[in-house]
Amino acid sequence: MQFKTIIEPFRIKTVEPIRQTTREERERLLAEAHYNLFLLKAEDVLIDLLTDSGTGAMSSGQWAGMMLGDESYAGAKSFYKFETAVRTITNLKHVIPTHQGRAAERILFGSNLKPGDIVPNNTHFDTTRANTEYRGATALDIPIREGQDPAVILPFKGNIDLEALERTITENPGKVPLVMITVTNNSGGGQPVSMANIRAASQICRKHNVPLFLDCCRFAENAWFIKTREEGYADKTPLEIAQEMFSYVDGATMSAKKDGMANIGGFLALNDDALAQKCKNMLILTEGFPTYGGLAGYDLEAIAVGLEEVLHEDYLQYRIRSVAYLGDILTANGIPIVQPPGGHAIYIDARAMLPHIAQSEFPAWALSLALYLEGGIRSVEIGSVMFGHQPDGSEKPAAMELVRLAFPRRVYTQSHVDYLAEVLLYVNSIKENIRGVRIVEAPPVLRHFTAKMALI
Ligand SMILES: *Cc1c(COP(=O)(O)O)cnc(C)c1O
Repeated sequence: MQFKTIIEPFRIKTVEPIRQTTREERERLLAEAHYNLFLLKAEDVLIDLLTDSGTGAMSSGQWAGMMLGDESYAGAKSFYKFETAVRTITNLKHVIPTHQGRAAERILFGSNLKPGDIVPNNTHFDTTRANTEYRGATALDIPIREGQDPAVILPFKGNIDLEALERTITENPGKVPLVMITVTNNSGGGQPVSMANIRAASQICRKHNVPLFLDCCRFAENAWFIKTREEGYADKTPLEIAQEMFSYVDGATMSAKKDGMANIGGFLALNDDALAQKCKNMLILTEGFPTYGGLAGYDLEAIAVGLEEVLHEDYLQYRIRSVAYLGDILTANGIPIVQPPGGHAIYIDARAMLPHIAQSEFPAWALSLALYLEGGIRSVEIGSVMFGHQPDGSEKPAAMELVRLAFPRRVYTQSHVDYLAEVLLYVNSIKENIRGVRIVEAPPVLRHFTAKMALI
């Protein structure tokens, strides 16, 4: 008998209490946090879906691995375990540990970008965009057109626009030092990229002698989507699929806080010897010696084990299904979400849900405040507060106004998700009462983290 219930493929050994607050308390806490959910204390949040980054639960295998951490400054055993784990998946020659993903980005871009350069990507993540622009280069988003329509249901909405890619490279000779593909496409709804798209992008890049890098934070989730959605991959293991994905690229940046299943860490991996040397020199300057890169030996151990566990089929099936489960309930009840549900998160289309709030009054930010006020749920705006401020100081509305509900790995159970759904349906029933917001005070770069906001 093949039973159809997909269960959490783990049992719980350690628990961490979460705290209920009253609506009255949350009203006060929101005002004290200047209506910015990043400025709340985590203990005042009941279900925290701010991010899936570094918020996962580690396994007993990872905790055991941490006891084996070799804290030697140079040449530690833990580094070689880490390097082997990364190489097994990526087959990339140089593996450079970093304290998280953005450090890998800064070191890579600091070594190969100059002012005036252009970096095409299916969609830059916020830190990737900021690190590119910090170097005086242009972060160019070229997702396929269907990827920007939240309602369209397609298997691989994370794909990069291959025509735009080739055009960008040919029209800007010498100005495209690398191309990136983000898997899955976080800012574009957690949507996967197909193997065919990665392969074709790689052919274009090789023809023009431009290196292709994967922003591979969610490579395992992407591999699962390829296995279940792309012809010819159903019988391959997630590891084999990941290996093929990496076979088409020249390097990768990774936040191990995502599919590394760790609370901190990342890496830069690449084949080019000269560029790797430059990056390692930069690493020594700001992160640490190349065999630890700003991490403790025990972190390297936790990541090495995590990279193996994240590719287990029962884990990936449970992971992708638990996100889709929430998506299915919202869709059945008429709440507009980016379709189909992404790998690590559900993205609510706030512009469609709250048509009475103008885009200039940040509907997604307003909705995220309402979810906290009514249910103690913390989500994140991915819209014009995050992306509207241009490097030249002007404002340009984001392509989509989304509220992201990101699922920490192996943390919440089905009853948490049922509660979430109940809160969302309630907020949907009172949505006419939700008001827009305005910015009171904000820094010019990555403003969403610290902006002070007010209700309109
Ligand atoms: C999280 C993330 C990063 C940055 O990684 P950090 O560990 O947060 O510095 C880069 N790209 C994508 C797609 C991400 O999701």
